[in-house]
Amino acid sequence: MSQPDQGQNIPHWYAGDADGDVLSLSSGEGARVTDDAGREYLDFMAQLYCVNAGHSCEPIVDAMTQQAREIPYVSSSKTTPAREELAGRLADRAPGDLNDVFFSISGSEANESAIQIAREVQDAPKVLTRWRSYHGSTYAAGALSGDPQTRAVVERHAATTGVGKFLPPMVNNSPFDGDTPEEIGKQAADHLEFVIKNEGPDSVAAVLTEPVAGTSGAYPAPPGYFERVREICDEYDVLLISDEVIAGFGRCGDWFGIQTEGVEPDMITFAKGVTSAYAPLAGVLASEEIAAEVRDDGHPLGQTFAGHPVACAAGNAAMDAYADGLIENGRALAPYLEARLRELDEKHDEVAHVHGRGLLWSVEFADPGTGEPYVDPRVEPDADNPVETVREVAGDHGVLFGSGRPDTQVICSPPLCIDRADVDEAVDALDAGIEATF
Ligand code: PMP
Repeated sequence: MSQPDQGQNIPHWYAGDADGDVLSLSSGEGARVTDDAGREYLDFMAQLYCVNAGHSCEPIVDAMTQQAREIPYVSSSKTTPAREELAGRLADRAPGDLNDVFFSISGSEANESAIQIAREVQDAPKVLTRWRSYHGSTYAAGALSGDPQTRAVVERHAATTGVGKFLPPMVNNSPFDGDTPEEIGKQAADHLEFVIKNEGPDSVAAVLTEPVAGTSGAYPAPPGYFERVREICDEYDVLLISDEVIAGFGRCGDWFGIQTEGVEPDMITFAKGVTSAYAPLAGVLASEEIAAEVRDDGHPLGQTFAGHPVACAAGNAAMDAYADGLIENGRALAPYLEARLRELDEKHDEVAHVHGRGLLWSVEFADPGTGEPYVDPRVEPDADNPVETVREVAGDHGVLFGSGRPDTQVICSPPLCIDRADVDEAVDALDAGIEATF
């Protein structure tokens, strides 16, 4: 007789922190999640920057249930009202003339589709991305990523070609020496122009970048940087692709992070928040002109579950929630979160920098004696990482935060439905974590 499937304690790929400890969550409501033992936490990370509308949002659950009852799946050679509606709504919210959508399933696949499209329409092989960026974990998306831990792994056994890197416009720990953020932004844009010229403009199909870096540490670009990048891309006929996988859907204060910069990209890639993570869904927004060219060429973009109707139903309900006040709420709370995090910077010598935008923030740590960031154990496995302890103690105080790459920072990326009291609770827990650690 076969044994019933217990579904318990089976090792699987992702589970566990550095010590192999696994937090098993069994329910959630709004910005709160509850573990198997009944302990509640404030989810100040929206899990992986994605449950933007909060947990157990009834209208999203209802829309998904209704869709599954009506018709759960429709192939990509056909369509269905939920998919059409979501495509239209995304196009309405996107900047400029990005009126066509290629759906996919994950952010990695969306970025792979975007670079396939760019290379096809530009008839050029290279894509440029930033150091200190993350664009996914599949082969090509991993190669796009400028985070050494991700890139090194995908490049260990296979040549990933056609991706060049440029320096990020970071103001803290900057590779540039400008005295003001504006100067650094200008130097960073000039550097990008230098890279394009030296790669050979005709060989560069696109610049692909996050408008506000996510996993690399929530750093926005200095004022004026993106305007100049747009000019440079136009001058050298290079497409500008904005990776909005984290920055989109209210995370950084607008529907899309690049809108805050007042710049229109040639393509947008999205995932995570589009369904508030209720179902896997991602995609590329492009102009009708670009889309037509790719379609006419019969380019084989798409996967079986791309634009899955149940995910699209979740996406439509999530867009309702964002439009009905969540994006506004996140935007209104952002200055308060920033001010409270800056108090930690004032109070603790080990807090080196605080930066971010909207409801995406990094609290960066450094050794006050040397001014150097603590060492990420993913780079040096034996390194003692106090930042991990800060997060653990904050977790003991009932608040979950995220880790950045490198793991020298605590990342805040809460659901957009939080309120001031939640911000206070989170910052107090982080404060307690810092007090207990150093
Ligand atoms: N782009 C960015 C900016 C991301 O942060 C991520 C994931 N964190 C991805 C792409 C890849 O998305 P996915 O994990 O859904 O493949």
